[in-house]
Amino acid sequence: MQGACVLLLLLGLQLQLSLGFIPVEEENPAFWNRQAAQALDVAKKLQPIQTAAKNVILFLGDGMGVPTVTATRILKGQMNDKLGPETPLAMDQFPYVALSKTYNVDRQVPDSAGTATAYLCGVKGNYRTIGVSAAARYNQCNTTRGNEVTSVMNRAKKAGKSVGVVTTTRVQHASPAGAYAHVVNRDWYSDVDLPADAQTYGCQDIATQLVNNMDIDVILGGGRKYMFPEGTPDPEYPYDVSQTGVRKDKRNLVQEWQAKHQGAQYVWNRTELLQAASDSSVTHLMGLFEPADMKYNVQQDPTKDPTLEEMTEVALRVLSRNPRGFYLFVEGGRIDHGHHDTKAYMALTEAVMFDNAIAKANELTSELDTLILVTADHSHVFTFGGYTLRGTSIFGLAPSKASDFKSYTSILYGNGPGYVLGGGSRPDVNDSTSKDPSYRQQAAVPLSSETHGGEDVAVFARGPQAHLVHGVQEETFVAHVMAFAGCVEPYTDCNLPAPSDLSDAAHLAASPPSLALLAGVMLLLLAPALY
Ligand SMILES: [Zn+2]
Repeated sequence: MQGACVLLLLLGLQLQLSLGFIPVEEENPAFWNRQAAQALDVAKKLQPIQTAAKNVILFLGDGMGVPTVTATRILKGQMNDKLGPETPLAMDQFPYVALSKTYNVDRQVPDSAGTATAYLCGVKGNYRTIGVSAAARYNQCNTTRGNEVTSVMNRAKKAGKSVGVVTTTRVQHASPAGAYAHVVNRDWYSDVDLPADAQTYGCQDIATQLVNNMDIDVILGGGRKYMFPEGTPDPEYPYDVSQTGVRKDKRNLVQEWQAKHQGAQYVWNRTELLQAASDSSVTHLMGLFEPADMKYNVQQDPTKDPTLEEMTEVALRVLSRNPRGFYLFVEGGRIDHGHHDTKAYMALTEAVMFDNAIAKANELTSELDTLILVTADHSHVFTFGGYTLRGTSIFGLAPSKASDFKSYTSILYGNGPGYVLGGGSRPDVNDSTSKDPSYRQQAAVPLSSETHGGEDVAVFARGPQAHLVHGVQEETFVAHVMAFAGCVEPYTDCNLPAPSDLSDAAHLAASPPSLALLAGVMLLLLAPALY
């Protein structure tokens, strides 16, 4: 019996091994020597771009730790019929990289609120607080006033640039809120979320601050329900009472925002977004595509929901009309949610879309006048190992059995809902189960929501002053590089020469809208009845 088991195990192993792949050219040392020599050549020729940046774009992959970047590289490579790990992401091709230390002032492992304060405002704050220094205390409204810190986006606006926020979460979520809000509790999305003492002391909810605190030219993401009076039916889900407006103060914040700016347009679906993008009379654009967070990319309805790549392109086209340049924050916000749920398929497919958006921005702007930074706010307790064979799915199994004679997935989580209770015995897993999009990878400790990880995250950079992105830095460094490169406060005397004449508007005008965007507009013109 035991012998039969061993035989079956060996057969299984052989089958697994046969799925792996060794590229013939990689057996030859000349392959590696040639490739490294080429990389060396590129490195030797690398020249810092010493001008100011007319435009600054910050891409934030929420929860996109280094293991997530690597796993995303493998997934995206395999989606393009490559083996995976050798195929660079768009962000991998940026010439400068640093590590960012993500801790909050009061927590060794941070959340997305305190970290947003760091990389957007340049000052570290406390866990669950946004846009306030660490002198402000979580949930204590009366510690807000006097402790506000200002985002680089706010300072860029003061310097005459156009500014925008794009995210796949609700636009009032912790990361985007760091660009415009000052709040001691990240959950104060609308006035109904404010406790009585916060109302007494005059603290404002995040949605109110979105329209009150500063003039944001482009706002794209989810979060409709926090903007409308209680009971207002949602346009997309008119019969779902759980999706209606929630504001007790009866304010219509979208209307208030529109009234402030001539040329301000509000849209709530992809069709309207594409129309607005091609309308040059639109100076301000707010697009809210879900009542709360947007859907995961793989669950989107392509006729209703724009992708992050499309939202990024639209934002760039609207913002780049300003001859003084722009500041844009783009968040892949649901990478984090997939991980919290220990559904790696969701996290990594979101991260692929995030990288697609980076590729689009890289293509639509010039490195001569546009600084692009790509980073994460924090990591997750996500890992992948198990000596998997080259070319096997990132969602697949390790080739050997574990000590309990069961299979295990390459991807595992340190904690989270993937822990399976039941007599101390973990379930076996097979290759098809592990590749199911809704599969939860196993976790060592049961939690309803997997936690963030505490290790450093990467910062990738290209464009003017990108060479400053080096070494191991505090997360606040990201904000300071952006402020310095853009010559905005406190670096208005940056002494940097203006970027070369190639204006981004010209660059964008020279590059036609992407095929996807064009196809969308054509369909609109030809067959409006379809929508
Ligand atoms: Zn999170």
